[in-house]
Amino acid sequence: MMAAHEELLQTALRERGLRVTPDRLHVFRLLEASPLPLSIPALVEEIHDTGMNQTTVYRILELFTAMGVVHPVLIGHGSVGYELIPPFRHHHHHLVCIGCNEVIDLYNCQLEHRLDEIVKPYQYKILYHDIEIHGLCPKCQAKEAEDPGPSAH
Ligand SMILES: [Zn+2]
Ligand SMILES: [Zn+2]
Ligand SMILES: [Zn+2]
Repeated sequence: MMAAHEELLQTALRERGLRVTPDRLHVFRLLEASPLPLSIPALVEEIHDTGMNQTTVYRILELFTAMGVVHPVLIGHGSVGYELIPPFRHHHHHLVCIGCNEVIDLYNCQLEHRLDEIVKPYQYKILYHDIEIHGLCPKCQAKEAEDPGPSAH
């Protein structure tokens, strides 16, 4: 059985006159299987036994970004990861711990309504929003309480 998201991707590619190549499908499947955003080095490591090279991965991510299949997100220490976006994946945000770089998906967003109100004076129609919340996870808060290191102001 083909996954519904994969069918969506095939349709999106064909609508642009692009072929559904094994490489494109492979990268898509890796992104779909990953619970967290994947960095390019992580993707390259995953595909190294398929004979696909880094340039191909870059090109596919570029294409997927332009198509609105993925978006780049910050995943701590300034590195970038890629993940699927709606309709390929449920809308969600990230809680990013600045202490240990842990990333948690936050699914109960509930911001749509509020954001519509906020942009109302600008007569803007919101297509999507992208919000990342940075802070300290419970473990890092406990560590901070024990030993207020350089991050304590
Ligand atoms: Zn942490
Ligand atoms: Zn995510
Ligand atoms: Zn949201």
